[in-house]
Amino acid sequence: MGQYETESGSGAGGLGFGRYFTPHMLIADYEEGTGWQAPRIVPYGPLALDPAAKVFHYGQTVFEGMKAYKWKDGQARLFRPRDHIRRLNRSCERMCVPPLDEALLLDAVRGLVAADRDGIPDDPGTALYVRPFVIATEPMLGVAPSRTYRFVAICSPVGAYYPEGMRPVPIYVETEHVRAVAGGVGDAKTAGNYAAGLKAQEAAARLGCSQVLWLDGIERKYVEEVGSMNVFFRFGDEVVTPPLGGSILAGVTRDAILRLLREWGIAARERPIEIGEVVAGSRDGSLAEAFGTGTAAVVSPIGSLHWRGERLAVGRGEAGELSRRLYGALDGIQRGWLPDAHGWMELV
Ligand SMILES: *Cc1c(COP(=O)(O)O)cnc(C)c1O
Repeated sequence: MGQYETESGSGAGGLGFGRYFTPHMLIADYEEGTGWQAPRIVPYGPLALDPAAKVFHYGQTVFEGMKAYKWKDGQARLFRPRDHIRRLNRSCERMCVPPLDEALLLDAVRGLVAADRDGIPDDPGTALYVRPFVIATEPMLGVAPSRTYRFVAICSPVGAYYPEGMRPVPIYVETEHVRAVAGGVGDAKTAGNYAAGLKAQEAAARLGCSQVLWLDGIERKYVEEVGSMNVFFRFGDEVVTPPLGGSILAGVTRDAILRLLREWGIAARERPIEIGEVVAGSRDGSLAEAFGTGTAAVVSPIGSLHWRGERLAVGRGEAGELSRRLYGALDGIQRGWLPDAHGWMELV
């Protein structure tokens, strides 16, 4: 997602986030009985859809977002594409969309990135963002799973997130609207979750905040995510992130961050985090760092929290030591400057 894209994503080269697209895309259709076609590469262009297609009315759709990087050796590599494709299928399962063949899809995504290799920017900090998605295409207004679907994947060259170094952003703690609720579809990457968040995002922007810190939908008490990123806090020597409880999207970056922290011998726990604990930590200074994690920004430090009319400081308001270390480690692996001990990078 384009977390904070209006802020820091409009960096070097003016590419921004998700504004430009490469010349090709993948396309595959599904029909009951015959199943999914093999995805094929076609020129990028508009889709012709029946206005009754279910996606327009009932939002039966899922998407993914992953990045490819051009290394110094001239080869392109994708970051953990298998995990993204597996998650696409998990989102499909939740939204009653028939699953895709994961091996076939990985090959297809590789083929697309290879076809548009010249479109992968190689200025410092840039990457190619790959956006696969599935839409329900059956032209029928009854509320029921569609009997036909279209899979599409498009690619967008994206600019450097931190052309002037990591800059912590102010965040608005949303105490009324919620993003998702356990039992709903918050753990699926599906359009409605993001449309549901726009209203709060507008309120955040009016207060000069870049994004929303989401609280749980039942008590408005537990921290869930920040914008469309997972969220981490460092209290003293302990790093915490909320557990995946059905309302939180299981980020691939979140998983990578947890693994790195644990390998570094840093106590990293998945546990419920009350907003009151965050507020108290800001007041007594034990809240040393807070940051969001996601494909677009990798690590996005939080500088302050706007909570019930109050502005709360996070650490010293600069990018924290751990945020910078984590960003450096992941960015280094993704760009080939650091060894890829986990086998996260997949050659295109
Ligand atoms: C995509 C997304 C994330 C981050 O997932 P990554 O796999 O790390 O990119 C976190 N939260 C939400 C709501 C998301 O949509």
